[in-house]
Amino acid sequence: MKILISNDDGYQAPGIVALHEAIQDLGDVEVVAPEHNNSAKSNALTLHSPLYVHQAANGFRYVNGTPADCVHVALTGLLGYRPDLVVSGINNGANMGDDTIYSGTVGAAMEGYLFGIPAIAFSQTQKGWAHLDAAARKARELVRRVLAGPITWDAPWLLNVNIPNLPEGDLKPFRICRLGRRHAAEKVISQTSPHGETMYWIGGAGPAKDSAEGTDFHATAQGHISITPLKVDLTDHDGLSMWAGVAAWPASGEAGG
Ligand code: MN
Repeated sequence: MKILISNDDGYQAPGIVALHEAIQDLGDVEVVAPEHNNSAKSNALTLHSPLYVHQAANGFRYVNGTPADCVHVALTGLLGYRPDLVVSGINNGANMGDDTIYSGTVGAAMEGYLFGIPAIAFSQTQKGWAHLDAAARKARELVRRVLAGPITWDAPWLLNVNIPNLPEGDLKPFRICRLGRRHAAEKVISQTSPHGETMYWIGGAGPAKDSAEGTDFHATAQGHISITPLKVDLTDHDGLSMWAGVAAWPASGEAGG
């Protein structure tokens, strides 16, 4: 089993160090991760500046790019082989509901998935790394489950996992969930620069809007580890017929129809 590890908090983040430590004996494990914090970079690729890869003393390789850059470069030339699994994290903070659209942690895993490789994104639900040791042991447990469990490896799959910051004994079992929803983000923060210009800082993520039973928000609030299988097709399947009607609507006589 060949496993590629990445993240979005950077190769020196406690979460990726703990994840590597926890799963390094489960196969041939390599780390390719961003040099700096790239949280909320989603699947962004760097197209207009060169990427450099360096190796740290602990063997981790780091890239002056995004999480998706790291996995993309690893899979398209750097590794020289195709990993069986891409694992991302453990992220410093939750990636639940609509967070998954913005998350670089999910983006790194999704890049593997888009290349046809099964992938898992791990996040702790609170920032600050409390009980990271417990989260890493649970990440290891899930990787072992997918390696041994009754799942297909013929087609790629993508799991989004959120682990409450609790001691191992207080963590409740894995629970399969759908994504919840958040409110719109909090207000932008404005300040005045030393030059008298207005500066804006993106505000925090909003609170949960849909945290009903069955969601990742609900499960993690109860102490469970949420697992959401994700797919990438953004098509609004329910809307196809309505839009087909618009496309077929008789032309109104405007030039060009
Ligand atoms: Mn992050």
